[in-house]
Amino acid sequence: MIRVGTGWDLHRLVPDRPLVIGGLTIPSPKGALAHSDGDVLVHALIDAILGALAKGDIGSHFPDTDPAYRGADSMELLKTVIEEELPPYSITNIDATIILQTPKLREHIDAIRENLSKALNLPLEAISVKAKTAEHVLGELGSGDAISAQVSLLISG
Ligand code: MG
Repeated sequence: MIRVGTGWDLHRLVPDRPLVIGGLTIPSPKGALAHSDGDVLVHALIDAILGALAKGDIGSHFPDTDPAYRGADSMELLKTVIEEELPPYSITNIDATIILQTPKLREHIDAIRENLSKALNLPLEAISVKAKTAEHVLGELGSGDAISAQVSLLISG
């Protein structure tokens, strides 16, 4: 049995917040405004996994009104979903795109892939992470005041 999932997320970027992407803190003057650590890539990934399973979304599993998730490490939320929701399925491959005007992510992409590889116990070859700018258009994305991510994946089992 093979199932497909997609996820999408967006966060506003503000000064004096860490920019966390795929569990990696990226040097940046701005970071995601969020109840949790605002890891846009991991949030989209969790939604893609839950979507493939038809088990709701990140907000239904980890409500942002719940103080338990204030400042939450999104990688821990991801591990919870992998351990408690995913079986008997496993992830076949992931293809992700991050949309961020600045800073450029190219030099961080492999570290992000390695982080996800360890967290998901998946080979690097199964994890694609791409980064694009918004070409200075698309409102807050283009002005560098927001970050977005989209994820497609296959699960099998
Ligand atoms: Mg989010």
